Amino acid sequence: MAKEKKLVEAITSMEEDFAQWYTDVVKKAELVDYSSVKGCMIIKPAGYAIWENIQKELDKRFKETGVENVYMPIFIPESLLEQEKDHVEGFAPEVAWVTHGGLNELQERLCVRPTSETLFCDFYKNLIQSYRDLPKVYNQWCSVVRWEKETRPFLRTREFLWQEGHTVHATAEDAEARTVQMLNLYANFCEEVLAIPVVRGQKTEKEKFAGAEATYTIEALMHDGKALQSGTSHNFGDGFAKAFGIQYTDKDNKLHYAYQTSWGMTTRIIGALIMVHGDDSGLVLPPRIAPVQAMVIPIQQKKDGVLDKANEVVSRLSNVCRIKIDDSDKTPGWKFSEQEMRGIPVRIELGPKDIENNKCVVVRRDTREKIEVSLDDIETKVPEILEAIQKDMFERAKAHRDSHIWDAHNYEEFKDVAENKPGFIRAMWCGDEACENKIKEDLSVTSRCMPFEDQERISEVCACCGKPAHKLVYWGKAY
Ligand SMILES: [Zn+2]
Repeated sequence: MAKEKKLVEAITSMEEDFAQWYTDVVKKAELVDYSSVKGCMIIKPAGYAIWENIQKELDKRFKETGVENVYMPIFIPESLLEQEKDHVEGFAPEVAWVTHGGLNELQERLCVRPTSETLFCDFYKNLIQSYRDLPKVYNQWCSVVRWEKETRPFLRTREFLWQEGHTVHATAEDAEARTVQMLNLYANFCEEVLAIPVVRGQKTEKEKFAGAEATYTIEALMHDGKALQSGTSHNFGDGFAKAFGIQYTDKDNKLHYAYQTSWGMTTRIIGALIMVHGDDSGLVLPPRIAPVQAMVIPIQQKKDGVLDKANEVVSRLSNVCRIKIDDSDKTPGWKFSEQEMRGIPVRIELGPKDIENNKCVVVRRDTREKIEVSLDDIETKVPEILEAIQKDMFERAKAHRDSHIWDAHNYEEFKDVAENKPGFIRAMWCGDEACENKIKEDLSVTSRCMPFEDQERISEVCACCGKPAHKLVYWGKAY
């Protein structure tokens, strides 16, 4: 028992110190390890398997909309990065530079890609000549580097994994439609697969992507009431096309600039999974993304027939879920806490008594509910339980999110909520960046988005300055 206690005691409780809880979980659930490269992480098998499932599901959904995958170089020549003014200003402070090739100083510095708009534009300007070449809907899976000062596993690391989609269209309408389509794809993925409810909306001018005409975002609320930007989709208009000379001739042989979008989701989303669903026993993974959905734990496995029966259960269930058996020589109690720490959605306990009664006990990770299931019915019951967990996890996260949205009508209310009530703040905004700056400086709160679905006018004036206001904004402290 002493040993079993240790695993649970190894993590700080969420209430006591959420940041420490997070660090403990990523470590004890064996998602990551620290490396001797400052600010970079090692993603371990349990963490990388989650990313692989995210990739598989997203990639499938991308391809259903006509996306094709490509791969671009990791380096960007300085002159290329500088071609779009806003873009270079936005990224310059966090770019890593390569100055030498072997022993020789390079004639032109190369940056390690922080994002690949400029490379794609340089590529597209030669690839696209006529309206027949459009649209181009390319995506790449890769890593990017941003020289962050403070880093945390998954949430902010100097190198991280992501996908970046870059598309080119003949018209502004087509580009806008693609921007919205990809945002909705991300939102549906988060809600249907990760069980994370999101708010869809538009970023303000201050918060939008460097070089974009408009940035759309999905924002999720973590257990501690902080927001996490979970995916973004940018409409570039023809700004990049003008800077890079991406032009096509139409049917009448007239020359036009093309319209572009880009959109991305990163390994940060694994941080969201942890902070939306986790509890004081560790990770809780939604079944649809969990690399292992069910863990069979034999009880008194040395007794005759127990392991055979357990393996039979694994073999029968392997057609309907991702299943493993823990037949190591650790005690069942230790195995239980390990399964809980790793967030495996259900464990299936099977001992001599159960076998005698032709049943097993399925224990839900999310609620710890114990469900007796006849061994005759496991192929139907276990998938049903997994689906119920998926649905309940989404509903629970949504109820938590919805009960942490606060309205503020003036600055006094805004300040009170920001200081005392974790969550999203709904407040009207006049459109002036000065109000955003004041709120950020005074309260460490940023505008998250102007929601698409909840554009209700809750008052006539800006909650910060009192001037007339037309836009409802979701505000919050954010990761
Ligand atoms: Zn204002």
